[in-house]
Amino acid sequence: MASEEKRPTTTTDSGVPATNDERSLTVGPQGPTALHDHYVVQKMQHFNRERVPERVVHAKGSGAHGFFEVTEDVSQYTKADLFQPGKRTPLFARFSTVAGEQGSPDTARDPRGFAIKFYTEQGNYDLVGNNTPVFFVRDASKFQDFIHSQKRLPDTGMRSNEMQWDFWTLSPESAHQVTILMSDRGVPRTYRHMNGFGSHTFSWQNAGGEKFWIKYHFKTVQGIENYTEDEAVEMASQDPDAHRRDLRKAIDGGDAPEWKLEVQVMPFADALDYRFNPFDLTKVWPHSDYPAIDVGRMVLDRNPDNFFAEVEQAGFSPSNLVPGIGLSPDKMLMGRIFSYHDTHLHRIGPNYEQLPINSPKVEVHSYNFDGPMTYIHSGDQPVYAPNSKGGPVADGEHGADLGWEVEGGELRRYENPKHRDDDDFGQAGTLVREVMDDDQRSALVENIVGHASAEVTEETQDRVVAYWANVDQEIGNRVASGLDRAEQATTPPQAEVPSRV
Ligand code: NDP
Repeated sequence: MASEEKRPTTTTDSGVPATNDERSLTVGPQGPTALHDHYVVQKMQHFNRERVPERVVHAKGSGAHGFFEVTEDVSQYTKADLFQPGKRTPLFARFSTVAGEQGSPDTARDPRGFAIKFYTEQGNYDLVGNNTPVFFVRDASKFQDFIHSQKRLPDTGMRSNEMQWDFWTLSPESAHQVTILMSDRGVPRTYRHMNGFGSHTFSWQNAGGEKFWIKYHFKTVQGIENYTEDEAVEMASQDPDAHRRDLRKAIDGGDAPEWKLEVQVMPFADALDYRFNPFDLTKVWPHSDYPAIDVGRMVLDRNPDNFFAEVEQAGFSPSNLVPGIGLSPDKMLMGRIFSYHDTHLHRIGPNYEQLPINSPKVEVHSYNFDGPMTYIHSGDQPVYAPNSKGGPVADGEHGADLGWEVEGGELRRYENPKHRDDDDFGQAGTLVREVMDDDQRSALVENIVGHASAEVTEETQDRVVAYWANVDQEIGNRVASGLDRAEQATTPPQAEVPSRV
């Protein structure tokens, strides 16, 4: 802020000095306001346009700048420049809740977005994941319905636990993610105290052309810390921006948060008969099958200077891939490849990638031109390809396409192929029985019962009980007694249960 003596003169957006900051032009002290008071008119006009549509999902978020540093040698798996030994790459990370709007409390029970934009020397690489290794659905055609069930009813404009449990219990593939959501990890204490995951399976390719399937895990160095449900509810009223404030203060105070990146690596050929479908977003790869391999560390050490310009206008897209990194046949990932860029075109505008927060740190030579708010111009570059005028030419050898073999087949709406150990409840059951301790199981039951008690019909509650009995019989029994549905749950005929797949 400039000192009192040196304060600059207010100007219009065209840079012309303004004569008054506080008074409209009127004909006499009580007279009508003059329409030609363009200074005040333009203030109003700009104010009316000072929001962009909030994100449909992940609307409430916070971000920070930092870097990724490679501490190990994973060049045997990928040729991507940002993962070469010793490399340091600047990045911007954004964390968020999923369902709430911009003003919603940070401590809602919800997965957290964990999005990273790496400004690499090969263009931007965006890893747009969550703080959970899995997701609620495995096919992009169900995503919109799932999100609608988490948002608001069309008539009352209110959120509805009935709607959430109705969708979840009719979508048994959600059980793994809902188990994590209802566990003590469903409300992280801060953004610094949670892990991050790429969640999907991606592919890597090394300099020799060999390909691997990859899972990314960012492990918090701060340690996992969570809020109990009661603490979360209290914090929601005490400080709805608790996580935003915590991240900002920690970085301002020199306490830069850090995450260690580990990857799980699966040889390409293993995917075919691995016991779980490795491209199913509702499943993890157990560490005993594919152990974690260290890669490097992510540090966030600089706060944004302007929230709107850097956090709100940041546009992440999983379609931003660099040579050496590719996709996989995960059907949710396929959908997201289209959806993220598309939403930013609508939300920010067709040239959102020219904004400093989104702009790569390498030269851009694309054949996309003009449109609203273009300010990076191509000079006299030819506007079409092919051309004989010296315009850019694509590089098939070093470009970013990375494919996999696909068997020919009929064009149809297929279910995800099932592998030997695939079912919707198994991995959720493993988490409950083999990873959680007694206290965590009790917190899980308490959170489920609390959530499914609030304006949820008895018919849906019976399905909730059956859903949890499929995850784990003991948890199902405890949920039944917590919801006062024990008699109904054990007396045939049972409420209709989505069948075990
Ligand atoms: P491991 O014991 O090797 O891994 C268990 C993992 O569970 C650890 O990464 C741990 O994270 C994490 N974890 C602990 N409590 C919770 C919780 N409440 N919610 C979510 N994650 C939690 O076992 P497996 O690899 O064989 O996996 C067993 C089960 O663990 C899986 O079915 C899955 O539900 C869960 N899990 C597995 C992951 C994987 O990639 N294999 C990743 C995350 C969860 P931390 O080290 O940070 O404590």
